[in-house]
Amino acid sequence: MLKKILIANRGEIALRIVRACQELGVTSVAVYSDADAHAPHVREADEAVRIGPPPSSESYLLGNAIIEAATRVGADAIHPGYGFLSERDWFARAVRDAGLVWIGPPAEAIAAVGSKTAARTLAVASGVPVVPGTTEALRDAKEAAAIAKRFGYPVLLKAAAGGGGKGMRVVHDETEIAGALDAAKREAKNAFGDDAVYVEKYIEGPRHVEIQVLGDQHGTMISLGERECSVQRRHQKMIEEAPSPAVSSELRNRMGEAAVRFAKAAGYTNAGTCEFLLARDGSFYFLEMNTRIQVEHPVTELVTGIDLVQWQIRVASGEKVPFPPHIEPRGWAIECRITSEDTANGFLPSTGRINYLHVPGGPGVRWDAGVEAGSEVGLFYDPMLAKLIVWGASRAQAVVRMHRALLELTVDGIETSREFHLRVMEDDEFRAGAIDIQWLERRLPSLLSMAPTANELHSAAIAAALIADAERLGRLSGSAGSGAGGSRGSAGAKAGNGDPASISPVSGWAQLARLESLRDR
Ligand code: ADP
Repeated sequence: MLKKILIANRGEIALRIVRACQELGVTSVAVYSDADAHAPHVREADEAVRIGPPPSSESYLLGNAIIEAATRVGADAIHPGYGFLSERDWFARAVRDAGLVWIGPPAEAIAAVGSKTAARTLAVASGVPVVPGTTEALRDAKEAAAIAKRFGYPVLLKAAAGGGGKGMRVVHDETEIAGALDAAKREAKNAFGDDAVYVEKYIEGPRHVEIQVLGDQHGTMISLGERECSVQRRHQKMIEEAPSPAVSSELRNRMGEAAVRFAKAAGYTNAGTCEFLLARDGSFYFLEMNTRIQVEHPVTELVTGIDLVQWQIRVASGEKVPFPPHIEPRGWAIECRITSEDTANGFLPSTGRINYLHVPGGPGVRWDAGVEAGSEVGLFYDPMLAKLIVWGASRAQAVVRMHRALLELTVDGIETSREFHLRVMEDDEFRAGAIDIQWLERRLPSLLSMAPTANELHSAAIAAALIADAERLGRLSGSAGSGAGGSRGSAGAKAGNGDPASISPVSGWAQLARLESLRDR
């Protein structure tokens, strides 16, 4: 087993890896920028190394400085988490060349699937269905128009090096194509330094369903089932669940087999995810492979009972994957990404200090966070503060439980996506599982106009007054005058029997009682 792991990341995923190390008896080493000197991941790790100033380009993206730090502290491996350097094949190679173990797939596998077009070619070669389209970089708008005509509108222009929804444009007819191509190329060039763009048929109303795979260094590669990630805004996932309401056991096996076939063809080991579009008619198309642990991995952990981050470390240590090839999910898990965004105001980023934080608890609730009360939230990094994850015996129970947990959550000092998630959990279509990747864009206006109810406004006002009062009395660590604002105070739920239909927003007595007790302290 590896003995000492340097974690080349920050926030909730760095803390998640620290926790896996602790349970495995492995020493963890955090790295940090000056903005994170007091962050939870730094404090909880056994050791910590400063890398540089706040901008990622001068800290978390400095591959060589990170490898140097690992060598200096005597680490035997590097875990990259997600984002930052996690999918850079040069970094995986440099780690290996420095005599360290890379906790992830081989650099060659990352390179083989790193570009969308290369991955498409590999998928076709291994008999995995892809969205109809091309793999060659477009020369100009004329060529794009000719190809679009062949596949039929609407089409999607996609950056070969794309990620995070950047460099992508839907084109409905020929008049739009030149403008869309320019925009996609410009965005791709800015984001990835590569302006290669290709064409895919635009699939109407599909679901985003992805398969988690896990492979060892001895030839075993298995599927751990699917995650449904259709609740997206601007191609960014907001809510994920496992299993998917649209996937039968039979489809799960077929998609799982396709993902395993692809991963094997790519020479893959360790944990990875194959993303698919699941069309309304039940056909599925491979989109791309993410060669890292994903943000949404906890929902798979909760329904399979397999600790994915620990298994990343075990597999990298040379252990064999001991699980059967197909694992049926048990119960239902949902994850909400709690971001520092003002969802009522166009999802504007919100910055400031978290003055007060109450974390939900109780049965089936998991909180993976990179922040705590007192944390400063700035603009240097991703707005995701935490992930709230719940498990229930059924989807209905998981929805009710998530609603209850969101009501318990109180964040004061910055705006968060909490209210937005409450509205989604109350939404009839979401509760019926009737979602696709365009659902949120379609539904957002009515979701936002639902919020907040009169009761919520009332309890929010009382909560704000109580927090301001507590601040005046010096019982909160907040700065002067920051009593207003924040994602707090809301409806309570009379959820009762586990039937999501019985969710009804009533005033949040529990939350008010908590704030009152704070005042009495
Ligand atoms: P990125 O790497 O930028 O995230 P993806 O290829 O994973 O790009 O696509 C991101 C999202 O865009 C998908 O989750 C899906 O919502 C949508 N999408 C991608 N390809 C198509 C397509 N051919 N038709 C319809 N929607 C698509």
